[in-house]
Amino acid sequence: MRKIVIAGNWKMNKSVAESVKLAADVVAAAKGIKNVVVAIAPTYLALAKVADVVKGSNVKLAAQDVHWENQGAFTGKVSADMLKDIGVDMVIIGHSEQRSYFGETDETVNKKIKKVLSLDMGPIVCIGETLEERKAGKLESVLTTQVNGAYAGLSADDALRTVVAYEPVWAIGTGVTASDAEAQEAHALVRGLLAKLFGDDVAQSISIQYGGSMKPENAAGLLAQKDIDGGLIGGAALKADSFLGIVTPG
Ligand code: PGA
Repeated sequence: MRKIVIAGNWKMNKSVAESVKLAADVVAAAKGIKNVVVAIAPTYLALAKVADVVKGSNVKLAAQDVHWENQGAFTGKVSADMLKDIGVDMVIIGHSEQRSYFGETDETVNKKIKKVLSLDMGPIVCIGETLEERKAGKLESVLTTQVNGAYAGLSADDALRTVVAYEPVWAIGTGVTASDAEAQEAHALVRGLLAKLFGDDVAQSISIQYGGSMKPENAAGLLAQKDIDGGLIGGAALKADSFLGIVTPG
């Protein structure tokens, strides 16, 4: 049985005080939820305080990015050791905004995944095609390059500790969601790619989240798809009720 993983990516939103309040609301609303992994990813600045809020609850703490080096002269960066030190459980890696605005490549994604795994945290590995790529018939080749790049050199045991987030770039923050069928098709493709790398049993055990304008109104349809195992939620995660409406849809 694959785990359903619902993660809120708060991006560059919320002050520290607002983050603490939203985290407390999510913790209260998530009480009693079983069989779903619920995670929230506040801004770096709020992570330490939010760590105190989620401590002892069933809500996991995620970071939005990480650097792969241990420490040193890397101005503006935060290391995996620093995240681990304050109680971070999961790290979003390779988000399309990192890829398109900040020079993230499949190579840096791979380095970050390895570093995060080495410290026993769980990477959320983001992949997804742009509208141009989809229109040009490149869905499969783009996802193949991204999956092979991200998972290069990983063992099956490593892969089992990751979560994939399939996020079509054209659906992120646009209000346009992939249809249930479009999303399922891409998820099945990704699972097939993981099966090629690690075998079918491993691929069947890795949770693949959908991301891109997911909200309570469309979550049930997406989550009912055979290969969709949760969601990475941006806009709808900024309020506890809409976020939890995705965690327990319907
Ligand atoms: P969105 O963002 O839900 O606002 O589309 C999702 C994401 O970027 O992870």
